[in-house]
Amino acid sequence: MVTNSLQFPPDFHYTQSRLQDFVECPRRFYLAHIQNQRWPSPLAEPQSDVEQALDRGARFHQMVQRHQLGMSLETLQTGAADDATLGIWLRRYQEIFTTLGPFEKTWPEVSLSTTVADFSVLAKFDLITVQGNRVMALDWKTGRLPDPVRLGQRMQTVVYLLVLYHEATRLVGRSVEKMALQYVQIPTGDTRLFTVDNHSIPLYESQIRSVIEAVHHSDFTLTEDVTRCRFCLYRGLCGRGQSPLVTPEEANLEDYWDSDDVESNPTAVEF
Ligand code: SF4
Repeated sequence: MVTNSLQFPPDFHYTQSRLQDFVECPRRFYLAHIQNQRWPSPLAEPQSDVEQALDRGARFHQMVQRHQLGMSLETLQTGAADDATLGIWLRRYQEIFTTLGPFEKTWPEVSLSTTVADFSVLAKFDLITVQGNRVMALDWKTGRLPDPVRLGQRMQTVVYLLVLYHEATRLVGRSVEKMALQYVQIPTGDTRLFTVDNHSIPLYESQIRSVIEAVHHSDFTLTEDVTRCRFCLYRGLCGRGQSPLVTPEEANLEDYWDSDDVESNPTAVEF
């Protein structure tokens, strides 16, 4: 591959959100994942509401993980007594998880990777489940859920389904025939199901490969679609406005409470 002499940080790997950043704005990808710039602009106002939403989302994901590791929901509900919304979310999680199950085994907060175009592409799942010959990944959305067409085109869906296809058998330890990704919007209970099929796998791989190759040929120009800048933390650096242009209610803060060592620098909100 002819490249633009890009100097990646040590241990760089692609993830769904990094690929999505590049798709939406090459400059955002460069600032966040090559230069490792932190967040220079506030996301939304009022900031206190943003912090509350971030805290609630992080607590929810942590509580679900603890439940999957054996802690009782009663204990978790007690821990959520200071936040009525969090309590409602936990009850909804319980209802949906019960409806979708039962499962033989589950793996919370599991990271799996595959290789595309000689690069590691990593997916960090909220939960992977197995029942019989069927593996299903569950992804909890505490913000908005895009419409099915848009959600199916997002890099998260493409990366998760490709990684599941390549890695599910190794994770489970036996052959599996069916693989699926289920998004669950916790505040509403809405779900979206995407299944893996052999016909789609080459398309997913081709889509990821083309984005990676575009990264390596990019000059990382600013997006021409300035509407994307409304939701981006680099507005100030790009001269596209310092002040927040969205409220916490408008913003989907999912990327922020999904952050960890792998996704430590989320850069934009999803609408
Ligand atoms: S502010 Fe706009 S141009 Fe700058 S990185 Fe964000 S999306 Fe790209």
